[in-house]
Amino acid sequence: MSNPDMDKIFSKIDNRGKLDRSDLVELLQSNLPGQMEKLCRKAYDVKSAEVGKRVYFRGIIEFSNICSRDCYYCGIRKSNFHSKRFNMSDEEILTAATWAWENHYGSIVLQSGERNDSPFVDRITALCRKIKDLSHGELGITLSLGEQSPKTYRRWFDAGAHRYLLRIETSNSHLYKNIHPAESGMEQRIACLNHLRDAGYQVGTGVMIGLPGQSAGDLADDILFYEKQDIDMIGMGPYIVHNQTPMAQTAGEIDAGEQLNKALKMIAVTRLYLRNVNIAATTALQALDPLGREKGLLAGANIIMPNITDTKYRAAYQLYENKPCLDENSGICRSCLEKRIKKIDESIGYNQWGDSPHFYQRKLELPDQDDLLSRGDRTGLNKSKIDA
Ligand code: SAH
Repeated sequence: MSNPDMDKIFSKIDNRGKLDRSDLVELLQSNLPGQMEKLCRKAYDVKSAEVGKRVYFRGIIEFSNICSRDCYYCGIRKSNFHSKRFNMSDEEILTAATWAWENHYGSIVLQSGERNDSPFVDRITALCRKIKDLSHGELGITLSLGEQSPKTYRRWFDAGAHRYLLRIETSNSHLYKNIHPAESGMEQRIACLNHLRDAGYQVGTGVMIGLPGQSAGDLADDILFYEKQDIDMIGMGPYIVHNQTPMAQTAGEIDAGEQLNKALKMIAVTRLYLRNVNIAATTALQALDPLGREKGLLAGANIIMPNITDTKYRAAYQLYENKPCLDENSGICRSCLEKRIKKIDESIGYNQWGDSPHFYQRKLELPDQDDLLSRGDRTGLNKSKIDA
């Protein structure tokens, strides 16, 4: 079925015109039969042109669920006394990192609940150095360890991490207040995103999609927020209820199919608007649909984060319910993903960092770029792409 407003927006996209907020809202609201497919196809074309038909893997190690925060949606919040806490040993983390390197993953992600104490900060610094050493500098390191001081961000960057993922969760300040305790303010989180950029990281952020009370306008504003913050990479996924959280009481019934569609539309519209950023097809998509991550790739995402955490810890790292792959070890995960990706006719960027082209474009506009470009030797980008 055709909708003249949508057709106008699509031809704007084809002519490289700049979409405005009302265009984004229109695209995010589209629900007519056939339009979702058209939207995803357009986004896929833009992805293919800007970042290629290639998926990059980041092996994620969810090494601890000990958390000092109390976010109302999250299963590992500190007040969830049902959550069995764990903290992997350095040796276990390094074994997982070695596995990633030996299996030609270009990068890993270290993620955990949030801690700011100095033993934790020192430990991460040492781990980054060791991971760089064991892989002869080859493994790229992304951190996803929450809000930290500028000094801590700089220390971790100097120890070898070069990307950082810190989701804003929602750019609507009222909604933000509804889902976080008063001590977790939004200004602080935005300040952290700026500190990360100043420290030299490729900066990633994202939101939860389908939060109770969130409108298409809010999601459009989230995309405009990514643009304003000059974000390099996006990790966003559907909000999924966790029963042992305060939001489970207020969220009401949420339809899984609708959540999935909203999330896919958000990926597609973000790709159409921001074009050359990295976008992850997150595991939460697969919690809603066994083919969720492939659908994410077909809607414009280009990054997958296979879980390489030892299976014995996975059940305890439940941010939300129905988390997939709880009992599949890293090897099974890898071959299953390989098959799925081949099936949709994409290749995997093994042995490459697969950095965000947007980051290099941003950096090339600055005078002092030598160090950053030398760090990008393993980007997997061809030079003409960087120059473009
Ligand atoms: N502590 C780190 C990273 C761990 S949480 C940090 O704060 O950045 C990683 C992400 O999981 C969060 O940013 C949030 O967006 C997502 N998450 C948490 N609970 C969720 C839920 N119930 N549904 C969907 N995503 C959730």
